[in-house]
Amino acid sequence: MSKRDYYEILGVDKNASDKEIKSAFRKLAKQYHPDVNKEPGAADKFKEAQEAYAVLSDETKRKQYDQYGHDAFNQMNGGAGYDFSDFDFGDIFSEIFGSSFGFGSRSGRGTTSTRRRRGADSIMRVNLTFEEAVFGTKKTINVDVAEDCPSCGGKGGKGEKKCGACHGSGVVTAEQRTLFGSFMTRTTCPTCHGEGITFESNCSKCKGTGKVHKNTDIEVKIPAGVNTGNQLRVAGKGEPGINGGPNGDLYLEFYVKDHELFMRDNNDIYLELPITITEAVLGSKREIPTLYGNVKLSIPAGTESGDKHRLKGKGIEDVRTGNKGDMYVVLNIVIPEKLTRDQKKLFEQLDNTDLRVGNGFKKIEDYLKKNK
Ligand SMILES: [Zn+2]
Ligand SMILES: [Zn+2]
Repeated sequence: MSKRDYYEILGVDKNASDKEIKSAFRKLAKQYHPDVNKEPGAADKFKEAQEAYAVLSDETKRKQYDQYGHDAFNQMNGGAGYDFSDFDFGDIFSEIFGSSFGFGSRSGRGTTSTRRRRGADSIMRVNLTFEEAVFGTKKTINVDVAEDCPSCGGKGGKGEKKCGACHGSGVVTAEQRTLFGSFMTRTTCPTCHGEGITFESNCSKCKGTGKVHKNTDIEVKIPAGVNTGNQLRVAGKGEPGINGGPNGDLYLEFYVKDHELFMRDNNDIYLELPITITEAVLGSKREIPTLYGNVKLSIPAGTESGDKHRLKGKGIEDVRTGNKGDMYVVLNIVIPEKLTRDQKKLFEQLDNTDLRVGNGFKKIEDYLKKNK
């Protein structure tokens, strides 16, 4: 089933202002909110509008959507569209349904949501040498991570007691009187964030957040075969969670430096081997480097520039399957620009012999004769 266009869902045109988008969403939310509208299909319509609003009200996401359509968010969600579960609808619902709607107004906090949320993911670039990427390595990486506060054990306060607002249940039920009549809502307790407990005093060390920032070294094992652009997830080392939610993840993105001799193409590697004109003509045996030590390569007589020799399994181990790629040695005949007197003499002697083998020479001569 194809997903409906977000602009179409909200009933606005592509150039709609933020204000128009917000007002279109407010209208739909009022109409389809499941607490207001019990008709079948209303909940789906509400969800659809939420998703559209979550994307179009965010400048960055709206740009991505304008450029790539639903594909902009498909990669992460297997085609399911944008995952708006982390989106904070607190403010707009408070505006629509009144400030007590699900998100209670704590003194000094305005209408900010007190919902627990997972922290954002963060990304860090890690430079690797060619060999580190090929064979894998261990790296010590310094990160600034939010950890549970040692003073309060991550709780955010001292002197635990049962939350008075929800009587320890973590949820509050409220009767909502709106234009559309009264209805009951059950929501996470805004006082204790659903924990069921509050504190006599906030922890002074972490100012009640339960988290402290700590600069730590983490050891990461980088598997063999990674390449530039590959990412490795380090769970829980991203941005700190909000209202006691878990930290996001840290993604390490690799940048692999070039090797002085080898060129990499996925899991295959290429080595350009310069050979002399006589080696090409007479053939030779040459010692060459590989990733797994030096080996002897036989260059057959009559080699041409660009001839490729495959060394099976001498490439890079695939980071997922462990299958090894191949190595290719590409021969490059280097013609000397300057000759010694002796070398010149030898070439002149050689030139007096007939080296014109193959059809090519004859074809040109025949053509010249015909077109005199
Ligand atoms: Zn509570
Ligand atoms: Zn603390």
